[in-house]
Amino acid sequence: MPFCPSCRSEFQAGTAQCADCNVDLVDNQPEAEATASSDMVDVYVCYEAQQVERVLDVLRSAGLETLLRDRASQAFPTNVGHTAEKLVAVSGNDTGRARELLQAAIDDGVIPSDGEILKG
Ligand SMILES: [Zn+2]
Repeated sequence: MPFCPSCRSEFQAGTAQCADCNVDLVDNQPEAEATASSDMVDVYVCYEAQQVERVLDVLRSAGLETLLRDRASQAFPTNVGHTAEKLVAVSGNDTGRARELLQAAIDDGVIPSDGEILKG
């Protein structure tokens, strides 16, 4: 079911735009196991759930499709230290724009700078 990346309202299938926000709707994807993930490119990694939510907000409010996935750390398979990296991915066509948005958000202090923008 498509939803608006700005206000997150859900719409009937076949609807292309949110009438309130005038932005293109994106497909609602199940967390972590989206089949379309092969088209998604990781652009940001961090270890804080709160932080990653702000990162997603920055990208979604710009109308980008985002995917959040956890990657268990290879180095720490047990519950020692951080156990999962939180990877933020966007559509392959949006990677350049996403990196610009994230860098601007870090420069503006919107998101902390202790995450890492992945240069691909
Ligand atoms: Zn909307």
